[in-house]
Amino acid sequence: MKDKKTIAYKNERMKKIAFNFRRLLTKAVMREWMRLSDVKDEKGKTQSERTKIENERSDLYRALDASICICPGCHQVKGDMMYNAYLEEWYCTSCVQEYRDFYYTKKPAIDKGWFVGDFDVEFHKSFL
Ligand SMILES: [Zn+2]
Repeated sequence: MKDKKTIAYKNERMKKIAFNFRRLLTKAVMREWMRLSDVKDEKGKTQSERTKIENERSDLYRALDASICICPGCHQVKGDMMYNAYLEEWYCTSCVQEYRDFYYTKKPAIDKGWFVGDFDVEFHKSFL
């Protein structure tokens, strides 16, 4: 896949259909995620069974976060999305712009050795 592929709907009807589909898929995944939580907490489950179910839940959540259905930055289902090949995740274009702005405003301070808070150079650089 292209390094910085962007999915942007120009047709309002297509946009509405796509966003509704994303919302529907996100709801279905979260419903299954919650169901697995209930299964995990059932009486009689061994620790090994609970761990296996918890791993399934984590895989499910990670898959949703990496999908185009939801932005892992702001958890929105609406918005144009851009693929970040470095992170192997889709982010909404608003979050992409925020991460880019953050990089450009904080990187000079980092280069001077200043503390700027929560800043991961490789993460932020991947949005440029
Ligand atoms: Zn976002």
